[in-house]
Amino acid sequence: MRRLIPYGKQIVDRDDVAAVLATLESDWLTTGPKVSEFETAVAQFCGASQGVAIANGTAALHAAYAALGVGPGDEVIVPTMTFAATANAAVYLGATPIFADVSPDTLLIDPAKVEALVTTKTRAIVGVDYGGQPCNWDALSMIAKKHRLATVADGAHAIGGEWSGRRVGTLADLTTFSFHPVKHITTGEGGMIMTHNAELAAKMRVFRNHGIVTDTRQREEKGTFEYEMVSLGYNYRLSDIQCALGTSQLKKLTQWLERRRAIAQRYDGIFQKTRLVAPLAVQAEANHAYHLYVVKLAEGVDRMRVFRALRGKGIAANVHYVPVHLHPFYRDRFQTQVGQCPIAEAAYARILSLPLWAGLDDETVDSVAEKVIACASECA
Ligand SMILES: *Cc1c(COP(=O)(O)O)cnc(C)c1O
Repeated sequence: MRRLIPYGKQIVDRDDVAAVLATLESDWLTTGPKVSEFETAVAQFCGASQGVAIANGTAALHAAYAALGVGPGDEVIVPTMTFAATANAAVYLGATPIFADVSPDTLLIDPAKVEALVTTKTRAIVGVDYGGQPCNWDALSMIAKKHRLATVADGAHAIGGEWSGRRVGTLADLTTFSFHPVKHITTGEGGMIMTHNAELAAKMRVFRNHGIVTDTRQREEKGTFEYEMVSLGYNYRLSDIQCALGTSQLKKLTQWLERRRAIAQRYDGIFQKTRLVAPLAVQAEANHAYHLYVVKLAEGVDRMRVFRALRGKGIAANVHYVPVHLHPFYRDRFQTQVGQCPIAEAAYARILSLPLWAGLDDETVDSVAEKVIACASECA
């Protein structure tokens, strides 16, 4: 079968492989020194004081919500334009996700819609830095402060992004990252939570280790076998093997972000000449991290036909996302409905994510863009 150009793809080089091999031959495959090394490196990159490495981005959300005390009967406000995990993690804890609609030009959670959803049961406001563009964290933080709520940034798309010169990882009380291979840097599977709050960080470290207050290495250093399980936690640890890969990947992040931004600029430039394909808007305060390059097709262009035509031309575009409130699980369990978030629903019918990763060359970018324009005109 012919290889399609995917919408996202990892880069793993010889340095990465060497880092993993060295760890495999070391004493610690998990709960060893590579974990805190990776945590410190990511926290430093973001300007956050703490990083908590965890099994994946979904576990990061689960740990973040749990640390905030989200539980049965609580409500967590999430945007509907996201990956299901943002909402699922609230359901794991017995809470109800309340879906907020998005702004039509950015597809980011609309702060004006958020305030109207706050009730006495609300525990947290979750913003998803969709595609890599930070939400309006000034507006979200103001609403949170007014109603004494916590803020969580699902930053799975947005490591390296900035809002008014401040890095993603410092914009909300807790920020979660994913290191899945389609994201900016990868550990195979992996995630991390960023925070300035040492108490929340400590809670999440216990949560990722069965609810036990000390880990194997801490016990070995103290020369004791005793341990206490103080709450119900999970085995959500990230191994040293994965953390070694992550630390090595992180060294290349700045360069990869530059390349992603250059590719996005190149696409923007080409799409200026057509009204059929429009990139999403970027807010003046935002420095976009470009996990995704999302375009909106003009009214009347058949998105499904464009998607299929692009596959025929060797391009695997994608769609991010089916609005979460439309999934059968949420309709059945929480009685969510079509029409509940009209802006996200209308946008969903028109969006496409085009290939964007650091290893993509200019020639391919140009050719993808021209094919998208050609397919859009054929399908108008
Ligand atoms: C990838 C992603 C997640 C989940 O991360 P995993 O590491 O795959 O568990 C959560 N939220 C968003 C917005 C994502 O893109």
